[in-house]
Amino acid sequence: MTDFPVFDGHNDLVLRLLLGDTTAKDVSARLEDGHIDKPRAIAGGFGGGFFAIYAPSPNDGGNKAAEMCKPSYDLPLPAPLTEEEGLDWTLRGFEALDALEAAGAVRLCRTSAEIAAALPGEAMAAVSHIEGAEAIDRDFGRLHDFHARGLRSLGPVWSRDTVWGHGVPFRFPSTPDIGPGLTEDGKALIRACNALKIIVDVSHLNEKGFDDVARISDAPLVATHSNAWSVTPHSRNLTDRQLDIIRDSDGMVGINFASAFLRPDGRMDNDLGFDVMLRHFDHLVERLGENRIGFGSDFDGALVPKPIQDCAGLPKLLAAMGAHGVDEALMTKVTHGNWLRVLSNTWGE
Ligand code: ZN
Repeated sequence: MTDFPVFDGHNDLVLRLLLGDTTAKDVSARLEDGHIDKPRAIAGGFGGGFFAIYAPSPNDGGNKAAEMCKPSYDLPLPAPLTEEEGLDWTLRGFEALDALEAAGAVRLCRTSAEIAAALPGEAMAAVSHIEGAEAIDRDFGRLHDFHARGLRSLGPVWSRDTVWGHGVPFRFPSTPDIGPGLTEDGKALIRACNALKIIVDVSHLNEKGFDDVARISDAPLVATHSNAWSVTPHSRNLTDRQLDIIRDSDGMVGINFASAFLRPDGRMDNDLGFDVMLRHFDHLVERLGENRIGFGSDFDGALVPKPIQDCAGLPKLLAAMGAHGVDEALMTKVTHGNWLRVLSNTWGE
């Protein structure tokens, strides 16, 4: 499967390092838990992807999983974080990424050429991404600082509110049309990202915020980890109208492996087969075309389907896609080619 190294739209390995006992050095050896480490990445052809830097809310554990197993649910969003809280976590996130690079687990990439060069290697290609921009100041000084530190992608919100806009709560069944669009500061943030050629990620944004990004941004629209709403009517998924707008911008969508966003019944239950993932795949290809779809696994941040288990399970997914009729050309595009094209276009290469 080395012909098809996977470059992926989203993982939360950095958060796992910040919250748990795992160190950057540990990631070079086979771990017993989580979804990503270097040996499993090599075994699964997981060549890297967007590594999210995310500030968790205090006391946000709760019994989310139990609630999301009900036939319908609407989880209250945690309170907004302060800029100081966001900054503290974000700086630690950047340090964790640096530590992963120093340990030889990842290679930080700032261009698509660097990703292409890193993909066949043992270290994972890492694009630095901020999920929820609480740490950015309204004059964007820190946006420039973080860009200089390698930041190449940013989501204005995780689901909780920020000064920039509003995300979707975890609600099923529900459209993503929940709440108002971007704030004036949020609109300025999109322009500032455009000026620096930083990707604006629309995953987690509500529908009015999505429309604002679509109106303002001069870059291809990217949803790093989202699925098809018409297969799974979850607030976190993208409606056909949104998919058409992404297609028209020549952007792309990374399929999220989170069971609750894949299963048509919205349950956070990982007992599902590849057939369910393939329904999203088929729908996304139908709406977006073959050039605008990739993966956005959410490894280390989501409950992924049992047959995949972790990043070493990717060859099983590719085998299921092959049996489904995905030919070599499309396999190349989905596993990494489309991401490389969209990143190259967005980064002005
Ligand atoms: Zn996310």
